[in-house]
Amino acid sequence: MTDIPDDYEDDRFASAGLRLTVDLTAMAENWKDMCRRSGKARAGAVVKADAYGTGIEDAGEALYLAGARDFFVATVDEGVTLRLYAPEARIFVLAGIWPGTERRFFENDLVPVISSEEQLAFWMAVLADYGDYPCALHVDTGFNRLGIEMNEAIAMADDVSRPASFSPVLVMSHLVCGDDHSSPTNRQQLESFRRVSAAYEGIDSSLSASAGVFLGSDYHFDLTRPGISLYGGEAVSGMANPMRPVLTAEARVIQVRTVNAGEFVSYGRALQLTRNSRLAIVSAGYADGYMRSQSSRGVPLRQSVPQGGQGFIAGRKVPVAGRITMDLTIFDITDLPENAVHGGDYVELFGSNMAVDDVARAAGTIGYEILTSMGLRHERRYITEDDA
Ligand SMILES: *Cc1c(COP(=O)(O)O)cnc(C)c1O
Repeated sequence: MTDIPDDYEDDRFASAGLRLTVDLTAMAENWKDMCRRSGKARAGAVVKADAYGTGIEDAGEALYLAGARDFFVATVDEGVTLRLYAPEARIFVLAGIWPGTERRFFENDLVPVISSEEQLAFWMAVLADYGDYPCALHVDTGFNRLGIEMNEAIAMADDVSRPASFSPVLVMSHLVCGDDHSSPTNRQQLESFRRVSAAYEGIDSSLSASAGVFLGSDYHFDLTRPGISLYGGEAVSGMANPMRPVLTAEARVIQVRTVNAGEFVSYGRALQLTRNSRLAIVSAGYADGYMRSQSSRGVPLRQSVPQGGQGFIAGRKVPVAGRITMDLTIFDITDLPENAVHGGDYVELFGSNMAVDDVARAAGTIGYEILTSMGLRHERRYITEDDA
């Protein structure tokens, strides 16, 4: 394959049906903000799922340059990629280690997060062959997802017979209800995790993802693990989101059409127009992660935003009209001035004018899912403040 010249890439971006802009300065600022909010603790950076859809290479590098030195990825593949952009960082692999992947851990200096008895047994066997190597321990304090059972973990800490080569550098747990600050579960998990942390005195402890950082200093321990906040999403429900938006998604208007009152729009005739209308047909659909559940009618999934999703164009929000289809979405632009929108213009699907979490609410989901579902059919560009 030949190299694509830069200006050609610019052309592709300028004419893309769906384009994403990632503001790396905003991302770096968000990390620094989470660092300040983490008080005495260090802030790590969670970059799993291609850095929440922003691209692990550029995001990883930007966060590394901002100062992050503790990264969390889900899989060993993500860790191998990240290593190229975060040379001196500690990289934790949340899914842990499985037979056949040891070499990739060692060669790329990745730290497995051990989260079950089975993995622990395997890890001990690996250590017997390879010698001393760091690991992290994930302890379950109520999630019932990943994690070694709490009493087991505490017993192991005091177990004098445990191999000397077993050297955890981090004990961690994860909050179930961190996004709900009124939940008593947060306190309960905090008390449980304090016991674990005390048993592993001298070893770094980590309890909080983004939401937990906002719960206050009790929850910070030595290292925090923000993910969604770095990418500008809402971590805590019902709280004004203080983070800067990072990702902007825009879709091109392919056609503007005029339709008479009484006619129906899109599949299933799900929407009947009550007035003469102008519609913008836009080139993004559910195959691009613009979820069908935001459709204006006919999808019974959504409750909190029954009227469906909105986009932003020509200075205001406009509603989705009828069902979202695989490649195309229709917006009702009747309320905009007659000549405000033309073919080739772009509708902001989410970004600084249309919060990703509002899109998520309209789709009956959370911002995390919108960010990580953008599919493959887009052009992505990165900007920093220097470009502005
Ligand atoms: C995904 C994840 C995080 C980051 O969570 P956010 O809510 O995105 O901040 C932290 N810790 C663990 C174990 C995770 O799986």
